[in-house]
This record gives sequence, C-alpha cells and structure tokens, in this order.
Amino acid sequence: AQIVPWNYPLLMAAWKLAPALAAGNAVVFKPSELTPVTAVKLFELIEQAGFPAGVANLVLGDGPRVGHALAAHPDVDKIAFTGGTVTGRKIMQAASGNLKKISLELGGKNPNIVFADADFEAAVEYAMFGAFANSGQVCAAGSRLLVEESICERFIERLVQRTKAIVVGSGLSDRTEMGPLISEAHLNKVLGYVESGKAEGATLLCGGNRLTGGEYAGGYFMEPTIFTDARSDMRIVKEEIFGPVLVVQTFRDEAE
Ligand code: NAD
Repeated sequence: AQIVPWNYPLLMAAWKLAPALAAGNAVVFKPSELTPVTAVKLFELIEQAGFPAGVANLVLGDGPRVGHALAAHPDVDKIAFTGGTVTGRKIMQAASGNLKKISLELGGKNPNIVFADADFEAAVEYAMFGAFANSGQVCAAGSRLLVEESICERFIERLVQRTKAIVVGSGLSDRTEMGPLISEAHLNKVLGYVESGKAEGATLLCGGNRLTGGEYAGGYFMEPTIFTDARSDMRIVKEEIFGPVLVVQTFRDEAE
C-alpha cells in the first residue's frame, strides 16, 4: 500500500508505483484527499494499457479513515509512505499489527549554506529557488539559509530586492512565478509561523501577509517571506513550515 501527499501529486504517484510494480508487487495506491484527480487519470491509463486486474489499485479518501485502514490491514505486507512526520508516526504504529515493512519519507528543514567565495548571483537565485519553488511546499525546500557574515549584508539586501519582485498569481498565468498554497487551513498554518517568528523576536524583512482582493480573491495566496536575526531555538528555525518562508541566519566562518 502506498500513501502520498498533495504537493507533487502525479510525480508522487509515478515514483511510488513504477518501482513497486517493476519488482512484481500488487499495489493499492492512495493519493492525498486534496489532490486525487491526476491519480484518477493515471489509473484510467493504467487500465487502458491492459494491466492485469487487481495489480494496480486506486483508493480515494482521507487519512484517518482510508489511510489508516491500509496501514492497519493484515493483508498488506508493506506500506510506502510519503508525508508529514506526525502522520509517519501514526502509520508506524498502525502497521505494527502484522509487522509490516515500512518506508517513511517525511518532512524536512533543510539549510542552504552560502560561503563568502560563492558565485554571488547564482547563490541568490538558488536560495530563492530553494525557498519559494512550489510556494515552499517541498520536503527538500531550502527553508533555512546560512550566510557567511562577511557577505551577509550585501547578500540579504539583494535577496530581499529579488524576492519582492517575485510575481505571485494563478498557476494558469504565464506571468506567474509563485502560485498559491494548497488550502486555507495550510495558509493559516503558515501565517501562524510568521506570527510566531515575530513574537519570538526574529526580524521580518519582507512579506508575511496573505494576498487578497483582485486576482487573489478566492485563492490562498501569500507574499514570499524572509526573516533574519533568527536564533536556533525559534520555532521558525526548527520546524518545517512548508510555505514560502525563508529564515536567514549568519555564521562567522566554516568552523562555526
Ligand atoms: P500528511 O502526512 O498530512 O498526508 C500525507 C498522506 O497521508 C495523505 O494521503 C493523507 O491522507 C495520509 N494520512 C493522513 N493521516 C493518516 C493516517 N492517520 N493514517 C494513514 N494515512 C494518513 O502530509 P501532507 O500535508 O499531505 O504533505 C506534506 C508533508 O509531506 C510535509 O511534511 C512534507 O515534508 C512531506 N513530504 C515529504 C516528501 C519526501 O520525499 N520526504 C515529499 C513530499 C512531501
């Protein structure tokens, strides 16, 4: 059984299904309840392609009911899960009944490190890509940025200038560089982290707000956001935000 998140729905389906089927397994696949449509299309194609009945199976539904039923089911030998860490723990527990094999690909809080001798413009571009690609909804997002002190002032200034110019909008528009977040609940969670960063004393350099009105009405858009003056004990430094929020810290030298 395979359970996946919403942030790259078709890619997640492809990279879970292909190796399992190639290794001769029968598979039950559950996409996220927020993004089922590409999986439905893919399974229509799988059927048209003539897969034997029962080899590749699709079930739809939410985590606590359908996902849990798969994780706990005595006839499932293995669970391959990608998603949040909290869910990973629940799946591990539910899978213990028949001692399933499990693989868990969970959340991340990944640092990009920029030394003073880096290619300056390339480092700025990739720092932005790491933080804001897919609106930061990426398990491997570069959501923390560590910049060597000797270049940090100039680096952060350029980063903020470039970030403020990011065009936020609908994914259907050619002009758009960054789209919305997946849902209102998730947007509110990300905005909650912005409040937490401010309350814990980090400095908000740009962004931090929901975008409303005009083309943003009815969508879950927010400004690309950068914090600095962050300490390692702050929640915005320690916890996965999974939104367009970059937290910058500095270091003196390689040893530090
Ligand atoms: P999530 O954990 O809430 O949900 C993922 C899947 O698990 C969904 O299909 C959901 O329905 C299901 N689920 C939820 N509760 C369940 C339960 N109790 N039992 C069984 N299944 C349950 O995650 P999400 O919000 O969809 O995705 C975001 C998370 O995914 C982030 O933490 C991100 O880092 C992680 N992620 C990791 C990778 C990776 O390769 N490591 C890739 C993409 C996303």
